[in-house]
Formats: sequence, C-alpha cells, structure tokens
Amino acid sequence: MKMISKENRRSKAINCKHYIDGEFIESDQLKTFNNVNPATEEIIGLVAEGGKAEVDRAVSAARNALNGPWKTFTDNKRSTILRKIGDLILEIKEELAVLETLDTGKPYSLALEMDIKRSAHNFHFFADYLTTLGNESYNQDNIALHYSIRRPVGVVGMINPWNLPLLLLTWKLAPCLAAGNTTVMKPAELTPMTATKLMEICKEAGLPDGVVNLVHGFGADSAGAALSEHPDVDAITFTGETKTGTEIMKAAAPTLKKVSFELGGKNPNIIFADANLEEVIETTLKSSFMNQGEVCLCGSRIYVENELYEEFIEKLTNRTKALKIGDPFNEETNIGAVIGKDHYEKVIRYIELAKSEGATILTGGGRPEQFEKGYFIEPTIITGVNRYSRCVREEIFGPVVTVMPFYTEEEVIEQANDTHYGLGATIWTNELRRAHRVASLIEAGIIWVNTWYLRDLRTPFGGMKHSGIGREGGAHSFEFYSEVSNITIKL
Ligand code: NAD
Repeated sequence: MKMISKENRRSKAINCKHYIDGEFIESDQLKTFNNVNPATEEIIGLVAEGGKAEVDRAVSAARNALNGPWKTFTDNKRSTILRKIGDLILEIKEELAVLETLDTGKPYSLALEMDIKRSAHNFHFFADYLTTLGNESYNQDNIALHYSIRRPVGVVGMINPWNLPLLLLTWKLAPCLAAGNTTVMKPAELTPMTATKLMEICKEAGLPDGVVNLVHGFGADSAGAALSEHPDVDAITFTGETKTGTEIMKAAAPTLKKVSFELGGKNPNIIFADANLEEVIETTLKSSFMNQGEVCLCGSRIYVENELYEEFIEKLTNRTKALKIGDPFNEETNIGAVIGKDHYEKVIRYIELAKSEGATILTGGGRPEQFEKGYFIEPTIITGVNRYSRCVREEIFGPVVTVMPFYTEEEVIEQANDTHYGLGATIWTNELRRAHRVASLIEAGIIWVNTWYLRDLRTPFGGMKHSGIGREGGAHSFEFYSEVSNITIKL
C-alpha cells in the first residue's frame, strides 16, 4: 500500500462549502466552523455552517430537479451514472482515504480498504441491482390484472454520522438515486470532507444540477433539525444515535414523512465452548476494536461459555496488547484516534465507571502514555462487571468491551436480549442445531454465526427494538426510496 508523506496529508485537507443546485456556495454571512483532525487536534479547515436558509434553498433545488431532466432518465441511464460515480470514487481512492483519515482519526489502511472501496461498491451494486428490478403482478381468475408501478418518493433528507462517513452516506445515496429521487444531505459536522468531494464526482458523472445537494451544519437548532422538519421533504433517512432518532421522528411527524432509521447498538457476541477458538479470537479482535470500536456493529458485550472463559480472555488479552495504536497514517497502525474531545471524554468516563465499580481491566484502561496530542484510547477489556452496570447496558461506541462467563444457553440468550437495543449479534458454535436455535431467539436484525461483518448488499440490514426502523439493502432499500402504486385492469 502506498503511504502518504506527512507534508502531503495536511495539504490534502479541503475547506468545505455547501453544494446546492450544482454550485459550491458559502453560508449566508459566511458563517463557518472549524474542522479538527482528532489525531493531532489541529484545525485542518473551515466548514460552511448551514441552517434553515441553506436547507430551504437546497430543498427547493431538489424539488425543482425532480421535475427536470432527471425525471426523463431511464433506468439504464441512471444505472450508467451510478456506475460512473463508483468508478470515479475508485480513481481518487487514495485522496478520499486521506480526507477520511484526517476527519476521523481512523487508520488510513482501513479508510482505503474498507470505507472508500465499499463506498464505490455501494454505487456499483445499486447500478446493477436497479436493472434487475421487476414489479408485482397478479392475474385474478381472468377477471382482472393487478400490477404495481414504482416511482420516486420525492425529496429525501439524509442525515449521517461520523464513524463511517462516506460509506454510510453512499449506502443511502446510491439507492436513493437509483430509485429516481432527489436529495438534500447533511453529513456529520465532524466529518465533512469526503461528502464534499463526492459532490464534484456526482457533477462529473453527469447528475443534473439539483439532484444531489449538500448542506453542512450541526444537528439540533441547525441544519439537521431544519431538514427533519422541512415541510417539502418527503422522507428522512437517518443513521446515528437512538436519542437523535427520537428527535428527528418528532420533527418529521407533523408532515408525516417516511422515515428510515439505523440507530445505536450494544451487540452481544455469544461464544460457546465448542467453537474454533483461533477463529473466534481473530474475529473477536476485529469486532471489538475495528475503527476504534466506533462501528455500530461492533460486539461490545462478549459472553463466553464458562469452560472456555479463562483461555479466551488470556488469548484475547494477549492479542489486544499487541495491537499498535498511533499515527493513523502509519502502515502498522491498527487503532487510530477516536472522533473528538467530547467522545473521548465519554468513553474514558465509562472506563472510569467500570474501575469505580470494582471491575478488572485486563488491558488498556485509558490514554496511552506516549501521546501528547490526539484523542487516543487504549483498546480496553473489562471483566468482573455487573450485568446491570451502565458499562454493559449503554452504548460506549469506543475501543472498550466487557467479557462475562455464562453457564447455559437459556441464561446467555436471556442476558443477550436484556437490552433496548437490537442491532447485531454474533454466535460462535460448531453445533448446527444450536446455531439455528440460538440465532432464531436473539433479538437483533443482523445475526452472524461463526463470522462477523460479512456483508452481501442484497440482504436486509437494520435493527429491531431501539436500534432502528426499517431495513436497508437490495429490495429493502428500494422499498423505502419508492412509492408503489397498484393498478387494476378489469379484463
Ligand atoms: P448523532 O445522532 O449524534 O449524529 C448523527 C447525525 O445527526 C449528525 O449529522 C448530527 O449533526 C445529526 N443530528 C444530531 N442531532 C440532531 C437533531 N436534533 N436533528 C437532526 N439531526 C441531528 O450520532 P453520531 O454520534 O454521529 O454517530 C454515532 C451513532 O450512530 C452511534 O449511536 C452508532 O451506533 C450509530 N450508528 C448506527 C449505524 C447503524 O447502521 N445502525 C451505523 C453507524 C452508526
């Protein structure tokens, strides 16, 4: 992998403007906020701060574009543009990976191999999927023919988080465009750069002006709230915290917007003693600490069958101690910085809480000594924690896991389900019947057996309980981004 020199990184950072009706524009009164690199704490650029005025303009551009040339584009033409966007992302993948790394503090290697390549794949996947779609049709005893047609929902508002900025934005944008909608997007205030760069790509790929619009800003009392409550937005798709989801739902309710929510998780990893321990350790290391644990699907509550418990924690601890934490641009780095000061303090507070409750910190437990600057947190494994502790019940969203032993299948299912969340889970066992049985009883939208993070974009993705509303992926995405009408013809 080609690494980027220190001098080159800083110079790659961009100032971020809004993108409305095909033009990059400043905010009214040139309002901006600072963009900070969490690995160095340096200000790396300025971001236009949008609010109601900018959202109004963007929504109006998106509304007009719905009835412009975009409306006449065939499925094939939309598919060609989506494919081109994917290709252009890959053409500048290193540049995008630098921007993602500067914004998030994640390892450059991860940004390149996962975030950016998967962003391109999102477009390539939906470009292909779009051309395979059919419609329902029923012949009712030769009395009538019923068939459905699909049309765009209209103007879709997209509100995105900071952890996988381009990956999650494109996971929404690609199907939204595939289904013929127009959009106003608000990326997370902490990670504005790749979304901005993507706008250049959309233009170059041939999207008509106004189809894609981008407004930077904050959430409450800012661009996010203005978008959620805008009367001319037809649907809101949001990925972020559960409590933000409730705010957005309230704001969207008076105008009855369609909503799709991908929210928080507190995902259990259930490890039975018959599992292949080497595979378990290898994958659990990733499901615990990939992207500094800042992935909604990370397994932060690890339950291990008692007879395997001691061996498991010894092996996981040794492997965790060997992880390299530091400069995200260093090729060796496994763990970068967490997203920013507030989040750093929140994660540290949970670790301190565990200590004050008498838990054992097997490794990690705070800030690594060698760094003067940057929001670095050691990968941390906690044992001996009470199942009712906030550390076990609340989403920490950092490089922190708790490990607990269990004795019976019933007991571990009960504990795994004892949460408001229901996003993901992993089950490790080589016993076929148990795998099916336990998987069917775990209350989560995404359940992996003997693996983690293995994705096929056709499958339903989303959470149950307080982890989400609706599913994304393949046909599920089209369901959200389309209005379906049934037509009945009397024969
Ligand atoms: P967040 O909810 O704080 O912010 C997400 C976005 O919402 C940001 O763009 C923010 O500006 C905006 N926002 C905040 N308040 C708002 C309001 N009142 N109205 C409108 N918009 C508002 O989430 P975050 O901290 O950026 O992301 C981390 C969270 O995202 C975690 O809970 C994580 O589990 C979740 N997440 C879920 C998935 C999933 O697929 N289920 C994927 C990634 C992240």
